[in-house]
Amino acid sequence: MKIICIGRNYVDHAKELGNKVPTKPLVFMKPGSSLLVNKKPFYYPEFTKDLHYELEVVLKISKNGRHIQPEFAKDYYQEISLGIDFTARDLQNQCKEKGHPWEIAKAFDHSAVIGQFVNLQAVTVDGHLEFYLNKNGKKVQHGFTKDLLFSFDDLIVYVSQFFKLQKGDYIYTGTPAGVGAVAIGDELEGVLVTAGGEKKLLECEVK
Ligand code: ZN
Repeated sequence: MKIICIGRNYVDHAKELGNKVPTKPLVFMKPGSSLLVNKKPFYYPEFTKDLHYELEVVLKISKNGRHIQPEFAKDYYQEISLGIDFTARDLQNQCKEKGHPWEIAKAFDHSAVIGQFVNLQAVTVDGHLEFYLNKNGKKVQHGFTKDLLFSFDDLIVYVSQFFKLQKGDYIYTGTPAGVGAVAIGDELEGVLVTAGGEKKLLECEVK
């Protein structure tokens, strides 16, 4: 299983970190050891003083494929969840300055929190998803997938040119604006807004 992540996939978020809006998806990966299942505590790592949350819609890959054509992209994911791409922003900024890879800032143990999966068809409203992150009960991020620079299908097509997608892989599709720091004791909740009401898909306490 691999975890494929997309950076700067919402214009407002790219701008808030002072980055250019990309012309192709920005792709990085996390190893299986970065996964943290829903409702398990996240322990604040010692190597950072600026840990950030990034709430993202996550696709679960449902079958193997390479060089997937746009008209078939939809066949490769049926379930989605919300995930947190925990980022050591201080380390990431150091890596970016030096032009170094990001892994120590992005792919460390338990940096990929994954929520409960739901059927995409059942939660889509007018072809889109709406989601938000609560930190200690206060809404700090609010995203709409209609604002994605590269749609879910675009990502499947692009990523599968380079990496064979395998059943059970995850794609973290990028974070909307509003990223920020977390502290020990914070409680994070990822919520999906659906026609049938709000669904809390992710809960994570920082310890
Ligand atoms: Zn991210």
